[in-house]
Amino acid sequence: RYFTAAAVDEAITPPVRINYTKLLINGQFIDSASGKTFPTLDPRTGEVIANVAEAEAEDVNRAVSAARKAFDEGPWPKMSAHDRSKILLKFVDLLEKHSEELAALETWDNGKPFERSVNDDIPLMIRCFRYYAGWADKIHGLTVPADGPHQVQTLHEPIGVVGQIIPWNFPLLMFAWKVAPALACGNTVVLKTSEQTPLSALLASKLLHEAGLPPGVLNVILGYGPTVGAPIASHMNVEKLAFTGSTDTGKIVLELAAKSNLKSVTLELGGKSPLIVCEDADVDKAVETAHSALFYNQGQCCSAGSRTFVHERVYSEFVEKARELALKRVVGDPFKKGVQQGPQIDSEQFEKILKYINFGIKSGATLEAGGERFGSKGYYVQPTVFSSVEDDMPIARDEIFGPVQSISKFRDLNEVIGRANATYFGLAAGVFTKDLDNANMLSRALRVGTVWVNCYNVFDASIPFGGYKMSGNGREKGIYGLGNYLQVKSVVTPLKNPAW
Ligand code: NAD
Repeated sequence: RYFTAAAVDEAITPPVRINYTKLLINGQFIDSASGKTFPTLDPRTGEVIANVAEAEAEDVNRAVSAARKAFDEGPWPKMSAHDRSKILLKFVDLLEKHSEELAALETWDNGKPFERSVNDDIPLMIRCFRYYAGWADKIHGLTVPADGPHQVQTLHEPIGVVGQIIPWNFPLLMFAWKVAPALACGNTVVLKTSEQTPLSALLASKLLHEAGLPPGVLNVILGYGPTVGAPIASHMNVEKLAFTGSTDTGKIVLELAAKSNLKSVTLELGGKSPLIVCEDADVDKAVETAHSALFYNQGQCCSAGSRTFVHERVYSEFVEKARELALKRVVGDPFKKGVQQGPQIDSEQFEKILKYINFGIKSGATLEAGGERFGSKGYYVQPTVFSSVEDDMPIARDEIFGPVQSISKFRDLNEVIGRANATYFGLAAGVFTKDLDNANMLSRALRVGTVWVNCYNVFDASIPFGGYKMSGNGREKGIYGLGNYLQVKSVVTPLKNPAW
């Protein structure tokens, strides 16, 4: 019923070469000040793909100085907005030209199926840059009808040097969500990639410079959280911090920001998102969508539909079909055609997922499918489904970040609203129903940043995304995403002749 283990024991050679492994500071690829490097590993085998430059606080200082100079001396923030837009659009052309190469690096470093990198990550990244390139020359302030004889206007200005810290689950897409709006608004950036996935952002950044980005506007540094992320978060010359990652790290960077210069902070954090299947739902569609809502990207999505609540009248049918779908899911080498699920990112995540599966079994949930590692090499996990999951079980409470679906039964909508909201997270939710009144009611009642009705994981660049509660603060993407990277200045001048 699954791919044979042999299919993952011999890793396919990735169709790409690694050309960039150094820090990108002031438009140049350079070694770290210490000369140190660290390995990035292939999740299919645990073997080293490449050794990359390891930054530390001194490199953060160098990158921030470059970004500061590029902001203060220009031309980027003062360049015509149309010219900024043209550079971003030229970059989009280069992304299209190099999309397979970018997708191959992404799959190699992250383990996601190559077909998904090519068809999802890269097109979504391209769409995001094109979307914000379009905004660059449409950002403007207001004329304010203030009381008194004054002409009042607001100027929307870039903030300055922006620090950005991203995770490993969507390395290029998270790069896009951060870098595209920041640059469109005229900021300069110091971006830290995840230590697990440093490669693809370097190629993307090289292409951005090829498109005409002036040196120092985007600086990319590689390294670990405490030694690179923390110095960015606490830097006195970084004026804004945008972070995506776990809730625990979000708390740390917020504290560092507060204790240094009170830089404003946007946080995109974890989730434990409910997916509610009502009794009138199209069950086949709900099963399929709930399956991809959870298993997409090996279950490593902040928005994963990781608490599936199914109405008691359709519960048995749903569980049976969910089980069948999981058993049919094609696990294997992510470079192999037709593979739906590759390895987890690393041994730590792999062990954590297996530990949670064990918790699920021990706490009395019913194991419907999977439950073990897949193959004997790398970090593959069988698509796993639990039914009869109770709300207080660890698999229903904690973010597992792996291919483990948890299905629970509910009786009425008020009950399920209470249960769905009974979490510190509030990132997203799914609702499956044909009844418009119920769809509207649930959409309003759920305390989350995104509600997908009869669909899931729709991530167009125009749709704002972010969390309630401990899933973060602020919104990325869409028009709301611009606000993260703009200051509003009020300019007040007296009117000589108020009558006019
Ligand atoms: P993580 O918090 O461990 O790491 C995220 C980034 O923070 C990495 O670049 C890491 O090096 C850095 N970091 C770690 N410790 C740090 C410190 N002390 N100071 C500063 N930076 C530090 O998260 P992860 O494991 O890379 O990613 C998975 C998490 O990200 C999940 O919880 C997931 O839900 C979340 N996520 C959220 C969204 C969203 O939009 N809400 C999107 C993707 C992932």
